[in-house]
Amino acid sequence: MKRILLRIASVIVALLIILGLVGYTQIFGFTRSVKVRGTVFLVYNSGGFSRIGANVIAIDAGDAWVVFDTHLGPLAKGALGKIKSIKNAPVRYVFNSHWHPDHSGGNVIFTGEAEIVAHQNTGAILSSVHEGFGLTRPGSYRQYKAVQSAALPETLIGDQQKFEIGTLQMDVVHYPAAHTNGDLVLYADQLEIVALGDLVWPAGFPFVDVHNGGSAKGIAYALKDILARTNDQYVYLMGHGTPYSAAQMKDYILMVDQTIAYVAAQKASGKSLKQIQAQGLPEKWLSWETRLNPQEQWIRMIFETL
Ligand SMILES: [Zn+2]
Ligand SMILES: [Zn+2]
Repeated sequence: MKRILLRIASVIVALLIILGLVGYTQIFGFTRSVKVRGTVFLVYNSGGFSRIGANVIAIDAGDAWVVFDTHLGPLAKGALGKIKSIKNAPVRYVFNSHWHPDHSGGNVIFTGEAEIVAHQNTGAILSSVHEGFGLTRPGSYRQYKAVQSAALPETLIGDQQKFEIGTLQMDVVHYPAAHTNGDLVLYADQLEIVALGDLVWPAGFPFVDVHNGGSAKGIAYALKDILARTNDQYVYLMGHGTPYSAAQMKDYILMVDQTIAYVAAQKASGKSLKQIQAQGLPEKWLSWETRLNPQEQWIRMIFETL
């Protein structure tokens, strides 16, 4: 009898462990890495809730790593572990593309070994109580507490700054009023890559953080400038999803430009936001709608920032 009970108990424990693991992976997913080209890697989480976590871009600069974006706080440890498993070298620089928690939330994991760099506006937002996108439904906003000082970027830059490690040279450029008011883009011209954070939302309309100085037109300007500074050999690394080619960038810019022009023309003709939302965008742009960013929201983001 005792034996049977023990066996039943062990089966129950095994089931709980399996269910626990399935639950864990659905919530946090697995950390994976993919080589983009040469010394450039994309580190990301798969599955579940963590899909909203951003890509971490890691560049092997010889004796040290350069990291662009630090993921959501709970997932950053996994990302750092993955980077060290590719090559056990210290992280020299960490750049935050902007303040959103999926891009800067893991800073605290990198402090100590890396110098964390962000734009001045990103530093100002993170160090005080701030409002930002909620994660649950389109258009929702929530309040965030000031970030603990250990997780704040220590080097705040202005318009543009060059960084180098050994032979790797990087140009970090601020695009004002785009996805937020503090977007940084990293150009590594030798490697023919650009890391551009959330200026592009692959396969969907871009997001504008209207509460924090973002602007739809600013996104269009930034994307055209990035394209003009690069060529067809470049790979464009986004904060979410898989990298783009120059051809995909051009398609994206066309969609951004033409949807902005459409909403601007409707607004100029005297229509209200509600009227433009009710009539909707021209059919050909609707394939860019996503659950998190339906056309009504993209129209509003354009309308409010024209
Ligand atoms: Zn993001
Ligand atoms: Zn963002």
